[in-house]
Amino acid sequence: MGKKSKASSRPAGQASGRKRKAGFLGFQSGEIAFIEDEMAALAAEYGLQLDGDVASHVRERSSAKKSKARRRQLPQKADTVSTKASSTPTPSSASRIRLLAATETIKSTKRKKTNEDKDALGPVDEQKLVLSLLVTVLPDTCALRACAVPGCSCVNGSRSMGFPEQQDGEDKAQDTLKFAQCLKCQHGVLQHTVTLREDADVAATLPSGGQRLLVALYQLIRLARLASSVYKSRIWTKSALDRLGLLLAHLKRQFATGGTQNGQKSAGELRQEMQLLTELQTQLRKAQQAVATGARDELPILLACICDQMYFQTYYAALVLYGRASGTVPAPDVYLKELESFTPESATQLEGFLNTELLSSDLVDALALPLASSSSQDELARERLRAVEQERENPLLTIYHARLREGIRLFYEEGVGMGGEMDVVLNGSDTTTSTTARPKNSKKKPQKKHYRREKNSTSNSKGQADEGSTSTLTEMPSYPLLAQWRNNCRDWCCHLYAYATPTREALKLLTKYGPIVEIGAGTGYWSSLLQREGVDVLAFDKCPPNVEDATANAYHGHVPPFCSVARGGPEVLGNSENDMAGRSLLLCYPPPGDAMAVRSVQLFQGDVVLHVGEWQGDTGDRRFEAELQRRFVLEQQLELPNWGNSAYALTVWRRKTKEVPAVAWRAMSCFHCGKTLADAAAECEPLRRCVICKTNAYCSTSCAQQDARAHAAEHAKRLVFLDETSSVHAFENDAYYRELKELDLDDAVVAVKSDWNALTKSSEATRDGSDSDSDEELSEDEQPAKTAGFAFNFQA
Ligand SMILES: [Zn+2]
Ligand SMILES: [Zn+2]
Ligand SMILES: [Zn+2]
Ligand SMILES: [Zn+2]
Repeated sequence: MGKKSKASSRPAGQASGRKRKAGFLGFQSGEIAFIEDEMAALAAEYGLQLDGDVASHVRERSSAKKSKARRRQLPQKADTVSTKASSTPTPSSASRIRLLAATETIKSTKRKKTNEDKDALGPVDEQKLVLSLLVTVLPDTCALRACAVPGCSCVNGSRSMGFPEQQDGEDKAQDTLKFAQCLKCQHGVLQHTVTLREDADVAATLPSGGQRLLVALYQLIRLARLASSVYKSRIWTKSALDRLGLLLAHLKRQFATGGTQNGQKSAGELRQEMQLLTELQTQLRKAQQAVATGARDELPILLACICDQMYFQTYYAALVLYGRASGTVPAPDVYLKELESFTPESATQLEGFLNTELLSSDLVDALALPLASSSSQDELARERLRAVEQERENPLLTIYHARLREGIRLFYEEGVGMGGEMDVVLNGSDTTTSTTARPKNSKKKPQKKHYRREKNSTSNSKGQADEGSTSTLTEMPSYPLLAQWRNNCRDWCCHLYAYATPTREALKLLTKYGPIVEIGAGTGYWSSLLQREGVDVLAFDKCPPNVEDATANAYHGHVPPFCSVARGGPEVLGNSENDMAGRSLLLCYPPPGDAMAVRSVQLFQGDVVLHVGEWQGDTGDRRFEAELQRRFVLEQQLELPNWGNSAYALTVWRRKTKEVPAVAWRAMSCFHCGKTLADAAAECEPLRRCVICKTNAYCSTSCAQQDARAHAAEHAKRLVFLDETSSVHAFENDAYYRELKELDLDDAVVAVKSDWNALTKSSEATRDGSDSDSDEELSEDEQPAKTAGFAFNFQA
C-alpha cells in the first residue's frame, strides 16, 4: 500500500483529484493514509459521496490492521491467517459456529426488503418511508429542520426527502436513514438539524416533572445515543445534546423557583428529580466536551458511554419512583435491544468474530450464546423459541449479549485498540497506575486528564485499590477508552441486577443442589431465577435493597428486589430452628474485604457450598478461600459469561469426608499441563496468572507459549489485542503475569475461628481472630478504603 499503490490507482478517482494529486507529489504514505482517513470521516459526517479509491484504501487499511493484530497474537498460525477482512472470515468447514438468529435478523431482513423495494417506490412513498423512520428515531416533540452543512442555507427540513439516484449495494442497504437525503439541497437527512416541532405541546416539550419528564429525557438520550454511536452524525448528536441542555436548564429554573410549580410532587419525587438533574448535567458537560475535543475514532464509544450513563440514571430514577412495572423508561435489556435494531449487522459481526477469534469451543460455550445446533427447520424453530424465552426470563444475560455485539461493532470492527494500545499500558510501567497510560503515538491528548478525573470522581465502583496493593489483582489493566467501555457495560448491571451473570446451564446445575439458602443476595436476582425453576430458595441480605428503606444498599441502592429478600447475614446459618443445615449455601459474588463470606462458611453446617466469584481476585478474601478449602472439596465447576474486566466462575464444594474425591480445579491449575497450585508451590515454581484476563494461569514459560492461541482468544473476548509477540514470552514479567499464592491451610487457625459464640456475636470477633495469623495481604484485604471503593455511590 502507500505511495506506490496510490500512484497506480490514481487515474480512477476524479472527484477529489486536487488532494490526491498533492498526495502523490509530496506526501509520505503515512500522511496519505491520514488524509484519506480524515476525508472518509468528513465525507461520512456531511453525507458526501466518497471517492471509490479512497473508500477502498480506508477499508483495506482497517482490515489489514485487524489481521496484523491477529497474526501477532497467534504467532504459530501466522501463515494461515488470511488478509481478508474479518467480517468475512474463512469458515473452517464443519466446526463453524452458527448463531441462532433470533429477532435481529427478522428485523434486518425486513429492513433490507424495504430497501430493495425502494427502487419500485415512487417519490411519495420514499418520502413516507423516510418519515416513518424519522418518527421511530426522533422524540415525539422533534422534527427535522435546517441543513447544517457549512455554506448550505436549506431550511427544507423534512418536507421533501428521498434517496440518491443509484446506490451500489450491499452495505449501503443496511440503513435507510444513513442514505436518505434532502431533495432540495442533496445533503443527507443526518446533516439536517433536529429541533422542536412548531405544533408540539408546550407541556410535552418542557415537562417539569413526573413520568412525562422521564419520558422526554429518555427520548432525547436515545436520540443522542443513536446519533453518536450508530449514525455517527455530529449534527444530530449536537442537536440532541442541545435539546437536552434546554430541558435541563428549564428543570433547574423550576427547582430554583420552588420546584413544585405545576403540581403535587412528593418530597421523594423532588429529591429523586433533583439528583437526576445534577447527574445529567454532569454527563451532559462530559458529552459536550467529548464532542468538542474527542478523537474521531473514539467519539462513538465515548458518547455511547456517556449516553448510557444518562440512560441508566434516568432509568434508576424511574425505577425508584414508579417501580419496575411502570415501564416509564424502558428496562436496560429493552433499551439495548432497541438500539440494536438499528444495527442489524452486529449479529453477523459477532458470528464472524467467534469464527475468527475464538477457535476453541469452550470459550464460546462460556458466552452462553444461543447457537444454531441443528439443521432441521423444526428443531431450529424450537431453539429459537427457547432463546426468546431465555431472553425474557434472564434480562441480565440479554444485556450481556447485546453488549458483546456492540463491543465487537464499536471496537473490533473499527480496529479500535489494535494499534498496540494495550501493550503501551503493560510496558509503560509495571504498577497498577499504568491503567491510565496512553499509547505514545496517539493523536488525542485531551482525553487523558479528562478520563482520570472522571475515574477518580465517579467510577470508583470496583476496587481500584491503587493504594499499595501490588499483590492483589483487583484492577485489570486496560487503556482508558476500553476501561471506560468495560465499566459502562458492567457497573449498572451489577447495581440493577447482580454482579455475576447467570446462564441457563448454571441455573440447571444449581437446581440439583436445592433447597438453597443465599447469603448476601442483594437484589435477589439469582434467587428469583432459581425460584422460577422451582427450587426452594431463601434469600438473605444484611441490608435488602428496597425503595421504602431510608438506607440504601451499598451495592444496589434502592433497586426493588426481584424476589423477597429477608434481612440477615451469616448468623442466620447458625440458627438451628430453621434447619439451614439441610440447605446448600449459595454465595454469589461475596464482596471483597468483607468478613461475610468467611463467616458464612464458618457458620454453615450443611454439606454443599455453591460459589460464584473470582479466586484471589475481586470477591471474598483469602481467609474465605482458605476456610472453604480447609473444610470443603471441589465437586464441580462451570464457566460463566464474564465482562471484560471480571473473571468469575461457578464452583460447587462438598464438605470434606473420606469418600469425597476432589476434581481438578481448573482456575487454579496450569491451563496447559494442569499442574496444581500445591504441586507448583512444592516445586518452588508457583503458578503465574495473566493480569490482562485474570483467568489463564501457567506453570512455566513453555506452557504459556504452547497455550498462546487459546490465551489470545480469551483476550479477544475481552477486546484485548496485544501487538507484540513478546507478550507470550513475558511469563516472568510482573507486568503480564503475577504469582498465584498458595493458600495457607494451617489447622491451628481454625481452632480459634470455629468458636461459634464468638463468631455470631460480631464480625469484630472474626477480624481479631484472624488478625493474629494474618500476613500483609490479609490486612490489606481489610482496608476499609477498598470496601468503600467497591461499593457504588449512587449520589455521585
Ligand atoms: Zn444542505
Ligand atoms: Zn436540505
Ligand atoms: Zn504447565
Ligand atoms: Zn491473559
